Amino acid sequence: NLKKHFYLDSPIPFKKSDQSVKAVDGVSFDVFPGETLGVVGESGCGKSTMARLVNQLIAPTEGTVELNGENLVNMNKEKLRVFRKTIQMVFQDPFASLDPRKTVGELIAEPLVIHKIGNKTSRKERVKELLEVVGLRGSHSGRYPHEFSGGQRQRINIARALALNPDVIICDEPVSALDVSVQAQVINLLKKLQKDFNLTYIFISHDLNVVRYVCDRIAVMYLGKIVEMGTYKEIYEDSKHPYTRALLSSIPKESPNEIKERIILKGSVPSPINPPSGCHFHERCPFAMDVCKVKSPELMDVGNGHQSSCHLLELENNPLSDIPIKKKE
Ligand code: SF4
Ligand code: MG
Repeated sequence: NLKKHFYLDSPIPFKKSDQSVKAVDGVSFDVFPGETLGVVGESGCGKSTMARLVNQLIAPTEGTVELNGENLVNMNKEKLRVFRKTIQMVFQDPFASLDPRKTVGELIAEPLVIHKIGNKTSRKERVKELLEVVGLRGSHSGRYPHEFSGGQRQRINIARALALNPDVIICDEPVSALDVSVQAQVINLLKKLQKDFNLTYIFISHDLNVVRYVCDRIAVMYLGKIVEMGTYKEIYEDSKHPYTRALLSSIPKESPNEIKERIILKGSVPSPINPPSGCHFHERCPFAMDVCKVKSPELMDVGNGHQSSCHLLELENNPLSDIPIKKKE
């Protein structure tokens, strides 16, 4: 039940404003060892805030984050330091996330220095090993970030995230800033590393097309809430939510013979300061009914842990069932 509400500045000094941005508004999910959970949604839906909450970079307004049964929220600093090693993060922008004044060797060794692991010689060895693990040359540790391409810089970020032997890596839009051809290389690298080091990923993206190549399960977010969650197959072939359907129909067809009925969304994502009443999606949803304007739909189980929150599920004849997601002739 993770929540993060940011309160806006109040016009009256010393008075807490009652206007807040509900960036993350009651999100619950599990991530199992060795799997990749995709988190998808348009920009501003709360994906990055959710990632920062999981990693304890920011404190939640409400809710818990449990790792192997221990609650990380309000954990004492010393203990949290140990847990921090377990969850690492790879950020979107490979240009902004590496300090340009540090050599690649220094950047990758930094987490080891912070956690007081090894000495200078052993850290040098470890940096060399990590560079090779991500497909770069060990001899490049003396170079600076600007000497590398975007894809290589993202490899450096990944090497840095691996330095402490984490169990979980949160990848926040790891390939969004890269050219399409380079995206595939970085995704393949992430998949290989997952196998080699038994990593668990939370993979955040605004692009369902990217997520399909990496994720076992997918959570779709809209305005701070998870609106649908299921396995790769359930989401891509049997989605029960109009918003997911709309995201899916924006993926280009694989072949000209593929029939796909497009669900086009009206308008853009509304402001999270005053989100629409009832179902936050009702102003843009082509299937919206009267009830959608007043009642927020609950996430319900639609079989095998596949969850969706939409009033259409309560209808006897759900119009979504008649719309094919993907049909090849
Ligand atoms: Fe659309 Fe209503 Fe379902 Fe919301 S609850 S997604 S508005 S049909
Ligand atoms: Mg983001």
